[in-house]
Amino acid sequence: MQRNALVSAVALAAAVTGLMSLTGTAQAQDSYHWKMVTSWPKNFPGVGQGPERLAKLVDEMSDGRLTIDVYGAGQLVPGFEVFDAVSEGTAEMGHSASYYWKGKVPAAQFFAAVPFGMNAQEMNAWLQYGGGMDLWNEVYEPFGVEVMVAGASGVQMGGWYNKEINSVADLEGLKMRMPGLGGEVMNRMGVAIVNMPGGEIFTSLQSGAIDATEWIGPYNDLAFGLYQAADYYYYPGWHEPTVMFEAIVNQQAMESLPADLQAILRSAVADVNQSVLDEYTARNNDALKTLVEEHDVVLKRFPDDVLAKAKELSAQVVSELAASDPMAKKIYDSYSTFQDKVENYHAISEQAYYNARNPEGDTTQD
Ligand code: CA
Repeated sequence: MQRNALVSAVALAAAVTGLMSLTGTAQAQDSYHWKMVTSWPKNFPGVGQGPERLAKLVDEMSDGRLTIDVYGAGQLVPGFEVFDAVSEGTAEMGHSASYYWKGKVPAAQFFAAVPFGMNAQEMNAWLQYGGGMDLWNEVYEPFGVEVMVAGASGVQMGGWYNKEINSVADLEGLKMRMPGLGGEVMNRMGVAIVNMPGGEIFTSLQSGAIDATEWIGPYNDLAFGLYQAADYYYYPGWHEPTVMFEAIVNQQAMESLPADLQAILRSAVADVNQSVLDEYTARNNDALKTLVEEHDVVLKRFPDDVLAKAKELSAQVVSELAASDPMAKKIYDSYSTFQDKVENYHAISEQAYYNARNPEGDTTQD
């Protein structure tokens, strides 16, 4: 009896120890602490709130098993080095926009913003249900990076000018900050394009180093105080009918996560994709009112001939990009085929509805 009791006690102790070590091992393997680098100032309104929301959601949904520290531009790596940092594994993940990587992968620009291209609703449709996400991942795959769409600005504003623009000729000789394909179009209209990070825009415009700039839309432009440096605020942002933001993840880091944490991460990114756009849609309204009513900003629509010329040159610039390499061609074909279809349908749905709802259209024209 005594011997049996001893054996039982030893067995029980062994079982408990085994259980404890099992639990201990599981916990150690099951906790992940990630870094997310971004191209935005820390906590920047709109786009900078996306990564913060993402980290909070992932923490809550995983009960703390996956935690993510969010770094603003320059805190861990410069804003334009986010892609390299994720590719190399310096950070497990990043939040940015794909047109910043045009020097490395020109074709990536199709996924951020195309002048006279698709808006946020249409881009989400193409990316999620029209083959766009597969192509985007194909472009990043050689860099060991997985991508998810993670927010949209919606249609942006045309930008801030220190004088009235009444014709294409009025653009000639201006110095302007405008990135991406839109900047190339402006360049072909006689504008000298200057590239600079967001943080330098205000002082450059105020000092006269540049005559004009685009940034995002009323919400972010108000936050930067751009109304203090230029009087004329033009629309529409033909150059950026939206910018789609990206969440990029180092492939090895992604594969190291158990399936449930991967699902949590994807689900949180999908949430952020919608919420960034919703925040812009909500905040731009009040910000525009403040700009016009409190800061006496002169709100103007681009003249028809400027828009027509920009559209003509945009088609040139985009087809030149498509001709530059086979991957760009493949993406362009998919993008433009989808845009043709969605434009046809939206002509009799979204567009027809907007026209019916508000037949007078905008009221800022003389
Ligand atoms: Ca912009």
